[in-house]
Amino acid sequence: MPAKTAQKKAVTTRKSAALLKRAVKLFPGGVNSPVRAFKAVGGKPLFIERAKGSKIFDADGNSYIDYIGSWGPMILGHAHPKVTAALKKALDKGTSYGASTSLEITLAEMVIDAFPSMDMARFVSSGTEATMSAIRLARAYTGRDRIIKFEGCYHGHADSLLVKAGSGAATFGVQDSPGVPSTLAQSTLNAVYNDLESVKSLFESNPDGVACVIVEGAPGNMGVVLPKEGFMHGLRSLSTQYGALLIIDEVMSGFRLCYGGAQKIYKVTPDLTCLGKVIGGGLPVGAFGGRREIMEMLSPSGPVYQAGTLSGNPVAMTAGIETLKLLKAKGAYEKLYKTTDTLYKGIPGIAKKHGVPCQIAVAGSMFTVFFSDRVVHNYNDAKKCDLAAFSKYFTRMLANGIYLPPSQFEAVFVSLAHTKDDVAKTLEAVDRSFKGL
Ligand SMILES: *Cc1c(COP(=O)(O)O)cnc(C)c1O
Repeated sequence: MPAKTAQKKAVTTRKSAALLKRAVKLFPGGVNSPVRAFKAVGGKPLFIERAKGSKIFDADGNSYIDYIGSWGPMILGHAHPKVTAALKKALDKGTSYGASTSLEITLAEMVIDAFPSMDMARFVSSGTEATMSAIRLARAYTGRDRIIKFEGCYHGHADSLLVKAGSGAATFGVQDSPGVPSTLAQSTLNAVYNDLESVKSLFESNPDGVACVIVEGAPGNMGVVLPKEGFMHGLRSLSTQYGALLIIDEVMSGFRLCYGGAQKIYKVTPDLTCLGKVIGGGLPVGAFGGRREIMEMLSPSGPVYQAGTLSGNPVAMTAGIETLKLLKAKGAYEKLYKTTDTLYKGIPGIAKKHGVPCQIAVAGSMFTVFFSDRVVHNYNDAKKCDLAAFSKYFTRMLANGIYLPPSQFEAVFVSLAHTKDDVAKTLEAVDRSFKGL
């Protein structure tokens, strides 16, 4: 069924189109999260009806091999039978109590076991809440207001984090999103990813003003970009030298790179870690945590306020626990890497055959195909990619039954449900899509 319906797809997306007509009247841009609108690739978004394993099915019944995986969480594939069975049981016990449960303890113990830099944690309901709260805590702990982030790194949509350096801005941030108060934007300093000198000079001009450096474990939000040798360690030592905290945002990289995230791979110990996506197994869960003396400043043991009606929700905790259990099983990551490797290693040969310049950056089970003839080290490099070529590639892949993230600045997420057959079909689609690109 998958192959057949995928072929038909191009002719029937009428139901998605009709749903989009209704949605644009109800939601800005027709969506509840911007990148879903397919704006960067100029297409019409599909409305999804269901998903199972590596496949996703739209409202018209077409099936696609899914490489978005809900933007990262679905690392086991969709509707994994063990997760689904646990969730059905959990539902019968009531969906929210507004009180503590043993499930929160179980998931926290699993997370802390995987991240030795965390003595304590707090659960929230999204990655945005995790980073926003971690920054508040860093500001309270250091008594400083400014933060250093990197252009092209995404940390959710809290005001302080929606700022990136404009072309001429040297020291202070320039507002990137209207609605972010300029007074707050000025507290966000932007550095260039993979450029320790840019971080150093921000510290030098603000020697007692920086509360924290926040960085993605392995950036996936400008496409996948790998830290250069020594970059993460450099951030650790500069932060320590200037009395700032190091926050590693592992919302995407957390259980995606390995069981333990980028900090385990690069052997860097942050003061605070942010998590999300995979730890909720497809339900809304985020977390932040770190050193005990910092975490104990959090309400109610300390004065820094943070709360959530649905934080630690029992159904969401159940999905997280079952997902991590399956990831912890022997051979899970080996299988994930093997599938990822077979897929991405097949692409350069096809690119060469069709004369398409591209760079592939891989971090664990996520990767990006950059349409560029040079390696991408930072956001500026990423912006120089051939975006028109990406759009064509995306559109052709979709017509061939492959559902990719609709932007050059995103990562492809491989799951444990992707089969050899999926990979072979995907590479055939790449071959057809690269032809004459
Ligand atoms: C997705 C993401 C976030 C935001 O998480 P939400 O759950 O979408 O709020 C923060 N940081 C990183 C690195 C992310 O990839």
